[in-house]
Amino acid sequence: MAKELYELNEAIPTGEVPKKMYAMTIREDRFGEPKKAFQKEVVDVPEIGPDDALVLVKAAGINYNNVWAALGIPLNMVDVHRKDQNDQSGFHIGGSDASGIVYKIGANVKNVKVGDEVVVHCGMWDVNNADIKAGKVDPIVHVSNRIWGYEVNYGSFAQFTKLQGHQLLPKPKHMNWEQSAAYMLVGATAYRMLMGFPEHTVRKDDVVLIWGGAGGLGSMAIQIVREMGGKPIAVISEANKVDYCKNLGAIGVINRKDFNHWGMLPHWKDDAKYGEWLKGVRAFGKAIWEIAGKGVSPRIVFEHPGETTIPTSAYVVERGGMVVICAGTTGYNATVDLRYHWMHQKRLQGSHFANDAQATAFNNLVLEKRIDPCLSKTVAFDEIGDLHQIMYENKHPHGNMVSTVQVG
Ligand code: NAP
Repeated sequence: MAKELYELNEAIPTGEVPKKMYAMTIREDRFGEPKKAFQKEVVDVPEIGPDDALVLVKAAGINYNNVWAALGIPLNMVDVHRKDQNDQSGFHIGGSDASGIVYKIGANVKNVKVGDEVVVHCGMWDVNNADIKAGKVDPIVHVSNRIWGYEVNYGSFAQFTKLQGHQLLPKPKHMNWEQSAAYMLVGATAYRMLMGFPEHTVRKDDVVLIWGGAGGLGSMAIQIVREMGGKPIAVISEANKVDYCKNLGAIGVINRKDFNHWGMLPHWKDDAKYGEWLKGVRAFGKAIWEIAGKGVSPRIVFEHPGETTIPTSAYVVERGGMVVICAGTTGYNATVDLRYHWMHQKRLQGSHFANDAQATAFNNLVLEKRIDPCLSKTVAFDEIGDLHQIMYENKHPHGNMVSTVQVG
């Protein structure tokens, strides 16, 4: 018979599910700086449905999405749970990366069993939708798609997490719990961006420009491009990130602080300002050519900063190339000089997480020891808010950060 509540350092017999659990919650009256928004409390362990599984969380990865959840912008996630899923709990348990052990499965879950050691991908959708089942629509594009631990409650910042069975993939045997929790969200996202949009998948010798090369997404993107035989060029803002990116496989690194043409595109009728911008973006393009060779521009630009960088990305990508974007960390207004866009037949492609096949393909690269999880910092459960705070302040170390959860 399971106890009502186990401590974080106490062993919980496999398959025994207590009534209560420790969780790091966000509530609406605490929205703001992550260090204050996250607080530990005891809540009920969630019930699962026939397509779901309950996983004991050994370690949880930290991602930027729960910086947004803590701030309460652009969306109030507690309200999203209330209205979207009729979840009246009044709290948000974030966490979109985890490693752990399966403790309970629903009747329809066939890909795992109780006791399996797993990692979790964060893509959820209506698994019973007829179009998805028939393969007519990519599930991560379908209107029912949601991100576990962000748009859906009961993520990995708790002793137990509730998810759909198809989200579970084998944990790499050569990695510990913390390393295993570090890579999936950013890795599978980067994989879809780089391999999910034919004809613009990375080919041998393709130059790929990667913003935030030492960040979570960037560190995965550099390695994927390297593994596909491409030539990653990383952009960074601190000299101490250069060697880090090169060691991951970047053929060259550009410091964005050497340029100052950032921000929204000046109006094309404003000759003086536009001319100044053009000078800046051409200097940036020259820095790429100095690495890749004269006249060699990136076939793919890997974008996520958004507003401040997208005019540059759209300009420097080669004719017929693709700018692929999954976020707007600096803002959402994408300004593009359409003259270059249509005459040079460029593509601006949105991308959001990954489907099962892409998450599996990326996990296989990890299982084959071809991708390093880039784990840079591990903290105890109580410090989850602090890790989100340093991420919010862009003061976090290179790569990915993790919190331990159930250590017993
Ligand atoms: P991260 O680890 O913080 O890395 C982001 C990098 O962006 C930083 O290392 C920083 O590098 C760079 N950066 C910051 N400000 C910049 C600016 N003004 N111009 C250019 N680069 C700048 O975060 P992440 O995990 O890679 O995530 C990045 C964004 O993608 C977040 O908004 C996140 O929510 C989003 N995301 C979306 C999805 C999706 O599926 N849609 C998935 C994962 C992440 P330097 O300062 O060195 O340049």
